[in-house]
Amino acid sequence: MSVAPAKRGAQTSPGRNVIDLIGNTPLIETSRLDTGLCRLFLKLESFNPGGSIKDRPALTMIETFEREGRLKPGGTLIEATAGNTGLGLALVASQKGYRLILVIPDKMSREKIFHLKAMGAEIVMTRSDVGKGHPEYYQDMAARIAEETPGAVFVNQFANWANPLAHETSTAPEIWEQMNHHVDAMVCGVGSGGTLTGLSRFFAKVSPATEMILADPDGSILADVVAGKNPREPGSWLVEGIGEDFIPEIADLSRVKKAYTVTDREAFEAARELLKAEGVLAGSSTGTLIAAALRYCQEQTTPKRVVALVPDSGNKYLSKMYNDYWMQDQGLLERPQSGDLRDLVSRRYDEGAAVTVAPEDTLNTAWKRMKLYDVSQLPVVEKHRPIAVIDESDLLVAVSGDPKRFSAPVRSAMSKSVETVRPDADIQTLLDIFNKGYVAMVADGDKFYGVITRIDVINHLRRKFDLS
Ligand code: PMP
Repeated sequence: MSVAPAKRGAQTSPGRNVIDLIGNTPLIETSRLDTGLCRLFLKLESFNPGGSIKDRPALTMIETFEREGRLKPGGTLIEATAGNTGLGLALVASQKGYRLILVIPDKMSREKIFHLKAMGAEIVMTRSDVGKGHPEYYQDMAARIAEETPGAVFVNQFANWANPLAHETSTAPEIWEQMNHHVDAMVCGVGSGGTLTGLSRFFAKVSPATEMILADPDGSILADVVAGKNPREPGSWLVEGIGEDFIPEIADLSRVKKAYTVTDREAFEAARELLKAEGVLAGSSTGTLIAAALRYCQEQTTPKRVVALVPDSGNKYLSKMYNDYWMQDQGLLERPQSGDLRDLVSRRYDEGAAVTVAPEDTLNTAWKRMKLYDVSQLPVVEKHRPIAVIDESDLLVAVSGDPKRFSAPVRSAMSKSVETVRPDADIQTLLDIFNKGYVAMVADGDKFYGVITRIDVINHLRRKFDLS
């Protein structure tokens, strides 16, 4: 479909293509965070149609290949990523009629892969446990597929200069205009380095006094490099999209004035606080940037105008950093501790968080709840007391002869293989219960606290391992 030529990202009018919505994102000022003497502004890149800042370089990289004649109509693009670059490329490729092959390490979340496939990208899975130089390392594999596929180009965002160019020519000038030509500090992270390099180049030209501030996850080597130190051994971190164990070819750190190292805990707390205080649903890298921006702001002795990016939206992270249970499992969110078995119950019944069924609920209801919450067994609760459990095998036995039995009550299929323990019992008591093939219910007299299964004990031991 041909589209009316229009300034990319300008105000929408009917009949335009989604690609025209890339860029021209809003900028807001925070009002409830503690920014000391400073004012903190947020550039909401989450408003791009693919949901992240990476729509911009995806478009510029593809347009550059087109202009250079390397990408012909109907051609093929290859990249190694499951992240936002993949989403941006998939969006632009689908609209421009290109084939896109993405090489993805097998640790990536199913949601991301479903999203990419739904946009028409072809996915090649590879191992995530091998490093640079191994033939199955995702970057090397993408380069090889590109060589072997006629008419294909390897996008290679880490070494593609159209990536920073996108930020130098769109992200940065927009910020400059929206800030009325007054920016004292610019806070960003480095994944490929495209954002940092592009913004650095623009500000070097129009406002050399603007300080570039790097927000780096704890475990990444970049903050050490900026500080002129020998980098520590790279570690691992949970924040997605930023932090590196190498310096990407296009990452120019030379204008970074100061780098802040931010832990996962601090980043997730900052992102959650941003949603509560300012109503901005942002991704995990935003948490790192906001934590660094707030530290920078609070250290200043004169008022400054500071801009931080919101590189992507929080939708992708709802079951991770915005999920209290996930946060607790990672040891990143403290729950009031009782010092007994109640601490092992992941979804407390007395706090209204347990997933249960009643004996008169249908087997269909039990099946739906198991699916929805991704659990294989449910406590059967009557008058606030656990009377039994129903698991997948009970359900299968009940309905295998006659699927109509999905409308039968849970009472007709539940098994009594439950044992109740008091909160002050020890872990060995639980293990004995599991060994008998039973499920442990924690209750004290009439008060029911919830279920403990093997995975709850494993999670509990894992948290102790993190603390040790
Ligand atoms: N935040 C998120 C969520 C990202 O996906 C990325 C890109 N990997 C970045 C920040 C960093 O951007 P850049 O690649 O330009 O360094």
